[in-house]
Amino acid sequence: MEYIDLRSDTVTKPTPEMREAMAEAEVGDDVYRDDPTVNRLEELAAEMLGKEAALFVPSGTMGNLLALLVHCQRGDEVIVGNQSHIYLNEAGGMSALGGIQPCPIQNQPDGSLAIKDIFASIRTEDVHHPITRLICLENTQNICGGVPLTAEYTRQIGELAHHNHLRLHLDGARIFNAAIAQNVSVEELVKPADSVMFCLSKGLAAPIGSMLVGTNKFIARARHIRKMLGGGMRQVGVLAAAGIISLEKMTKRLGEDHARARKLADGLRQVEGLEVDAGSPYTNMVYLNLSENVPVNAQQIIQRMRDDGVLVDSESARRFRLVTHFWIDDAAVEKTVSAFAKSLR
Ligand SMILES: *Cc1c(COP(=O)(O)O)cnc(C)c1O
Repeated sequence: MEYIDLRSDTVTKPTPEMREAMAEAEVGDDVYRDDPTVNRLEELAAEMLGKEAALFVPSGTMGNLLALLVHCQRGDEVIVGNQSHIYLNEAGGMSALGGIQPCPIQNQPDGSLAIKDIFASIRTEDVHHPITRLICLENTQNICGGVPLTAEYTRQIGELAHHNHLRLHLDGARIFNAAIAQNVSVEELVKPADSVMFCLSKGLAAPIGSMLVGTNKFIARARHIRKMLGGGMRQVGVLAAAGIISLEKMTKRLGEDHARARKLADGLRQVEGLEVDAGSPYTNMVYLNLSENVPVNAQQIIQRMRDDGVLVDSESARRFRLVTHFWIDDAAVEKTVSAFAKSLR
């Protein structure tokens, strides 16, 4: 059975055009910087984000970890959102591998970190204290609903960071979704950040890979640590070829995913027993809960939907996140709404 898969945008398989480009990619040993396709991808990523240089990495988690390891020393502290991927979903890498301590502060409902909270968390110079080194923002903020942070907010945080001799790292796993949703350029959105990670392997549909971008000096250091972590890859142009299509083509079509997420949310709002979050979706994620009077839980709904050919995931016992992407068309949206209705009957 061909499933309709709304569990995440990480489930996207490469497009036929990507498969072809991968098969025909010119390659070389990328540890020697000899892979022309990787070099082209890195140049393109740096150019599109308005930064000096970029590095192809196997995953977003490694990209974020490299940024943390370049910006921070052992014993340093990083201000992160308590609902951020870096804090919750990267296996504690900063502490385990970098000896870096997170200072989690509350994410506001709009995905931001309150300026007063950041300000209060910056350590004063004291022999007892860790040294605050870095602020991390996430755009779009996944757990807060896939909500995008604005260019103006990011500018304010960049200013606050730099004024206090801190760096700003942006976990921009879905930064192109954030840009399209707000009709601003990615370059504008990331301008205040010293480093940015974004994923090719999510809504941009590449099979593997993320990009880390920043200054030449920052990327040179990150390249060294990538090797240390075992992330130096060889004829990896076969993957970079898909990434180039992600950047040149797939970034242009993310608005379709957002429109389908809206259509999905509108449809689900008509279904008795479901409560779609107010304001959802902001980008390509629809968040919803089961109404209190529904006598079944999310796991039971998930099983019934699976039997009907639709894969969804739960966030908690009664909460779902649905993610639209390249392989979700209008028919899939309609089928999902009817499968939900059926599962609740
Ligand atoms: C997916 C994701 C990452 C990490 O990417 P992986 O490639 O899965 O390691 C980082 N941050 C956010 C917000 C993400 O959604």
